Amino acid sequence: MQHLHGMNQAQREAILTTEGPLLVLAGAGAGKTRVIAHRVLQIINRGCKPEQVLAITFTNKAAFEMRSRISKLLAEDRGVRGGAYEVSAPPFVSTFHSLGLTIIKEHARLLGYKRAPSIYDRADSLRAIKEALKKTDTQNIEPRAALGYISRQKSDGITAEDFAATAENPHERSISVIWLLYEQTLRQSTALDFDDLIGVAVRLLVDNQEVRLSYQRRWRYIHVDEYQDTNSTQAQLTELLVGPQQNICAVGDIDQTIYGWRGARIANILGFEKTYSSAKIILLEENYRSTKTIIAAANDVIAKNIFRREKILYTNNAEGEALSLYQAFDETDEATFIVRTIKELLEDGASPRQCAVLYRANFQSRAIEERFLDSEIPYQVVGTRFFERKEIKDALSYVRAALGGTMADLARIANMPPRGIGKVTLIKLLAGREKELTGAVGQKVSNLHTLLARIAKAAAELPPSKLMRFVITESGLEALLKKDTIEEGERLENLRELVSLAARYDALPPQEGLELFLESAALASDQDELKDDADAVRLMTVHASKGLEFPYIFIAGLEEGLFPYDREEDDASDKEEERRLMYVALTRAQRKIYLSYASYRTIYGSKNATIPSQFLSDISEPLITGETGEKTVYLD
Ligand code: ATP
Ligand code: MG
Repeated sequence: MQHLHGMNQAQREAILTTEGPLLVLAGAGAGKTRVIAHRVLQIINRGCKPEQVLAITFTNKAAFEMRSRISKLLAEDRGVRGGAYEVSAPPFVSTFHSLGLTIIKEHARLLGYKRAPSIYDRADSLRAIKEALKKTDTQNIEPRAALGYISRQKSDGITAEDFAATAENPHERSISVIWLLYEQTLRQSTALDFDDLIGVAVRLLVDNQEVRLSYQRRWRYIHVDEYQDTNSTQAQLTELLVGPQQNICAVGDIDQTIYGWRGARIANILGFEKTYSSAKIILLEENYRSTKTIIAAANDVIAKNIFRREKILYTNNAEGEALSLYQAFDETDEATFIVRTIKELLEDGASPRQCAVLYRANFQSRAIEERFLDSEIPYQVVGTRFFERKEIKDALSYVRAALGGTMADLARIANMPPRGIGKVTLIKLLAGREKELTGAVGQKVSNLHTLLARIAKAAAELPPSKLMRFVITESGLEALLKKDTIEEGERLENLRELVSLAARYDALPPQEGLELFLESAALASDQDELKDDADAVRLMTVHASKGLEFPYIFIAGLEEGLFPYDREEDDASDKEEERRLMYVALTRAQRKIYLSYASYRTIYGSKNATIPSQFLSDISEPLITGETGEKTVYLD
């Protein structure tokens, strides 16, 4: 029971309530995630095998942290109790997506797959949607919007066929046509998109009682972190996995639902007691993360929302400093302020990794990055998804194409680096009309096949890192990028990083290692970053900051229209989601918050006057101190 020391009464109760459904509700920083880790230890201490415990987190990074946290706790506990027991397999900690994928892979045959399906990430899906759009005569449909719309439907458990049957207006009918084509592409490529990873697993468990019971027996205790942001199919998957003992523990904060736009349903957490009728509810009210001032400011902001339940969040931490507000002249001035302030913090003894700069929209990072580049301060942008970089996708597509991957993979690499395979040739190649390709063109195509065959052979024999090295040189990507420009040097560096990453899987048998490596690449999400331990300032969107904490938080771009962000089809609930985002941003801070806005911001090349964010006036006066940027004189 050593590990219960230092926990407050409510936390203890949550940790000790191991049987039956449990919902832990709490504001930010009240120790929800910490409770999950300790509860897992408690369950194992009570005699459950570690591998029978499941914990679901929001990102791969969170899963990684939870896994190491739990194994550390287990090791400490073993030390205390003198090696009373041995750990066989660790608890199963994963994201919803990789949980779905595990279930699908374990029953690939039953699901009718001849080989393990490949995964379409967002970029792949977007490409497929664009192709579908080309095949129809629909106009005025933006691919991203269409994909978002389809994805939301899928995350509600609706299929393309269901949708086709109920589509009413012309817009829905157009979407329906695109969606059916998109599903056809997925089927032809034996591929699943992110929503399918959950949806297909759900259908399997609904349709097959035997399979369902086998998982219910396997995982006897289930935990879900950030339950407020689960969508319908994720909640359904959880429900299907929960066995008759109903050992489910969900933790969350209604005020931190920030993925409504992607299909998250607050109803899942609000209706927890309905789904699990004997549920016990525990509220955590003490925040351990932030100063009193920060909590007061966060409470001020969230209190303005109407669709919420009042709750208590207080802290015994120090009063702390007031939030500071900087009124910048423009985005350059704002960025200069941020970098200058961080420099001062570093001079006062802070380390770069203690600082994070948060913004509402990705484009804001550019201006800030520019200033960081001029300084000596190490920084890292979280969310330029490593695996979405072109060179990384090219290299991985070579491996997948060699192993008989999707048409998208082949299309990607056929002429990359350029080898004289043009569009027409490619179309014939993809359509299986290779026989028509003769002469010089035929030779080029046959060379490509030889290359892919060599890669396939290497894949069977070499560990992942050696394989990736082989691919990078033999494909010609390296030679192409060796040209002496800065950008390409960076790309080469990224490819080298890919080799290092692959090396993590070298200890496994080649095929298994490769499979896991490709899987981790496909499942990486926006919050997952590579060089995790780097001592650098983090730059990220507010969405990506969920669940994290930093001593010093900068929140930039507090302007109407930017934060709160103006969405096209705005309604009251979107406005509330923006305020919840602001609550998330503020509650990431442990010691001090720096707010800023630009009086003029350049958008699409023109400088516009802005209005300060309403969130600034939500925070009561004494909690904020202000400063105004020098007005740079522009002569134009
Ligand atoms: P969020 O809503 O942002 O996800 P959370 O409720 O999951 O927050 P945690 O991240 O688990 O909160 O905890 C916040 C911080 O408080 C962590 O640094 C954690 O170690 C610390 N903490 C939690 N409980 C205690 C405690 N009883 N004593 C000391 N520190 C604690
Ligand atoms: Mg948490």
